[in-house]
Amino acid sequence: MLFAATQLLQLQQVFLRLIFTRGYFGGLIMATRPTHTSKQGTEANARPKSTEIFERGKKILVGGVDSPVRAFRAVGGTPLVIERAEGARLYDVDGREYIDYVCSWGALILGHAHPDVVRAVAEQAKLGTSYGMTSPLEIELAEQIAKALPSIERMRFVSSGTEATMSAVRLARGFTKRDLILKFEGGYHGHSDSFLVEAGSGLATLGISSSPGVPEALAKLTLNAPYNDGDAVEKIFKQHAGKIAAVIVEPVAANMGVVAPTRGFLERLRDLTKRDGALLILDEVITGFRCAHGGAQRLFGIEPDLTTMGKIIGGGLPVAAYGGRAEIMEMVAPLGPVYQAGTLSGNPLAMRAGLATLPKLAVAGFYKDLNRKSARLAEGLRGALKESGVAGSVNAVGSLMTMFFTGDAVTDYSGAKRSDTKMYAAFFGEMLSRGVFIAPSQFEALFVSAAHSDADIERTIEAAGESLRTVGS
Ligand code: PMP
Repeated sequence: MLFAATQLLQLQQVFLRLIFTRGYFGGLIMATRPTHTSKQGTEANARPKSTEIFERGKKILVGGVDSPVRAFRAVGGTPLVIERAEGARLYDVDGREYIDYVCSWGALILGHAHPDVVRAVAEQAKLGTSYGMTSPLEIELAEQIAKALPSIERMRFVSSGTEATMSAVRLARGFTKRDLILKFEGGYHGHSDSFLVEAGSGLATLGISSSPGVPEALAKLTLNAPYNDGDAVEKIFKQHAGKIAAVIVEPVAANMGVVAPTRGFLERLRDLTKRDGALLILDEVITGFRCAHGGAQRLFGIEPDLTTMGKIIGGGLPVAAYGGRAEIMEMVAPLGPVYQAGTLSGNPLAMRAGLATLPKLAVAGFYKDLNRKSARLAEGLRGALKESGVAGSVNAVGSLMTMFFTGDAVTDYSGAKRSDTKMYAAFFGEMLSRGVFIAPSQFEALFVSAAHSDADIERTIEAAGESLRTVGS
């Protein structure tokens, strides 16, 4: 009797697993795909189970989320509550399917649950999930990263992009014995105190320019210049000669929406920092292994003193890193006096995910194909805008892109802020109702992954055309 009950339970579990993990009965899930007019779109976006879970979450998680942008404050509506993900698809708890262009904020360049990444993590789990001591995996992944980015002579793994940039700035200050740092308006480098001044991304989404809780004394040490304005940077260096520890910059800005560096801008930063004895930190948390195998520094031919990375190098697990010239990095403990440490740093599960990911990006043609699909998407979105008569533009650098709703070209944060964010919110809702998930904020990037098929791209362009016609009417 007990045996039969156990067997029945096992059968039931296998059945459920088939439905939910293998995507069988996909028709059942997809049958809920919504219909296409604006009013219906709003109704179609009603997701009762998601709403119920989110409401329950709000009673215990701050705002119902563990990172603000997930709350959909900038776009309205019920936030997504996800049950599972595979390839280019997210599936929510209401059984809806979305083509995902957030891809865990760019971490998943191979798409969700890539079988090799899943296998590597599962295998590693059996060997231990955290050692708190060195493993060969850390050295192997570090060697692969340094091979792709030759400016990295020494590096250190940490667990988040915030930790990487915070540590790099501490190191720059320790190395140069200077206190000031220069960043760019709308540049986001994580949420450590020094960076929450005129930062983009989540702060821009919520209309916050600086965060309470950051001591005035510290905020005063952060200087801001407009992105792509080399003259402004030169002026600041004149005003604060010999006092700036580092310039930190996203080589392609992706947290004010995507903004490419104008010709010569990064080179000018390299020259100005070198001349003044300041360090140049390229924050490649998004662009590393995204813009090219060697990151944006390879794409633009810039050699920074320090680089910060995250997202892709961890294959979707919590990994980030900072690294650079040996002379600088060897100031970090235990070799030097600049302290930085981490209980889970170099975590073996995360290292295995990174090791399963990076070799696939080194295969000839990987970026060519990714960029080909991305270029088609950008071109399709531009075409859709034109056809709809809605004023806007698409900024794109390879597989990073953002649609702005302004007639003017967007080359910096003030330009990005001119975008009609209400229009973006409406567009977002229409896209979501058509099963396409783009960033729930104007000031974020859309990420294409290797898992997006040509058919996904075409379906997205079609959805964008319909959505723009609706929001523009
Ligand atoms: N730097 C950049 C350029 C980023 O885009 C981000 C986050 N998106 C960070 C740093 C912070 O990374 P994390 O969210 O992992 O702390």
